[in-house]
Amino acid sequence: MIDYTSFLEQEKDGPLARWVEILPDQISEGLSTKRYGDLEQWLTAMQKLPQVDNVQVSYESAVTLKSTAPLAQETHALIEQQFRALIPWRKGPYSIFDIEIDTEWHSDWKWDRVLPHLAPLKHRKILDVGCGNGYHCWRMYGEGASQVIGIDPSPRFVVQFYMLKHFIGSNTPVDLLPVPMEAVPANLQAFDTTFSMGVLYHRRSPMDHLRELKATLRPGGQLVLETLVIEGKLGEVLVPEGRYAMMNNVWFLPSVPTLISWLTKCGFKNARCVDVNQTSTDEQRSTEWMTFQSLSDFLDPNDPTLTAEGHPAPLRAVILAEAPE
Ligand code: SAH
Repeated sequence: MIDYTSFLEQEKDGPLARWVEILPDQISEGLSTKRYGDLEQWLTAMQKLPQVDNVQVSYESAVTLKSTAPLAQETHALIEQQFRALIPWRKGPYSIFDIEIDTEWHSDWKWDRVLPHLAPLKHRKILDVGCGNGYHCWRMYGEGASQVIGIDPSPRFVVQFYMLKHFIGSNTPVDLLPVPMEAVPANLQAFDTTFSMGVLYHRRSPMDHLRELKATLRPGGQLVLETLVIEGKLGEVLVPEGRYAMMNNVWFLPSVPTLISWLTKCGFKNARCVDVNQTSTDEQRSTEWMTFQSLSDFLDPNDPTLTAEGHPAPLRAVILAEAPE
């Protein structure tokens, strides 16, 4: 099992105290082997990972683990087998003792578009909402964050994260909680920076999501919002009736001016767009570690500016804003 005891112990008297009271129940629900049939098998894979001493980690473009002494061939093969047991790997890349996990997404490219615009992450306490397997959480820690808490309701991603953390070290102040945003208590006001990347369009009520995000921030704290948008003027928003790029859980794709007005309405200050980027089929594609269909299969084969359903192809914006002082 994943052991949250020391995390809960550490946080019980701090600004997250109210959350810590209800977290044990939320964690058991989020990691319920009754609810998630394959979870048992993933946890077994994690438990089979051997100990490796003297692991060096670099948080550059690929999160890279190296051992100072070469690993025995059987040890290396055992590790690779366990990481493969968690396929599909969507966010990354990772390099684990020279096992190159070429993930579906080049999440490092997103990070390169986001990072230059942020209030420096050094010494900050960070929440990463919908963090997937935590790839960006490691990058935040690499920038000197004092603590990173990721949340994601998908147990596969939670186990992928703890497979990395098994080698990086249990004392590293980076954790991933198996809960959705809705589980975070209102008005924590505990974080210096809160990220929500790739989540807003999955939410049926985007205003509620923005208000929940604001309530996680201390006064003056920074929101980093990355989401799908459309080209267009203030007031324009696409609500696909059916699927969008083959995804059936896509709700609101606002234009950038619309999204900024939503943030302002929700009480954020100084909402501004710092990047807009058309997602390329080099950034999101099938690989050996994610063998299902990917972006090129979700676009109109005769016109890559459109999705298979005829909507504008994925365009993503990065918006920054602050909680009021
Ligand atoms: N932030 C990462 C991953 C985005 S994928 C990145 O930008 O690369 C979207 C993630 O949101 C998925 O991992 C999914 O499990 C998670 N998610 C979906 N609904 C959520 C919710 N209600 N609260 C938090 N995370 C959610």
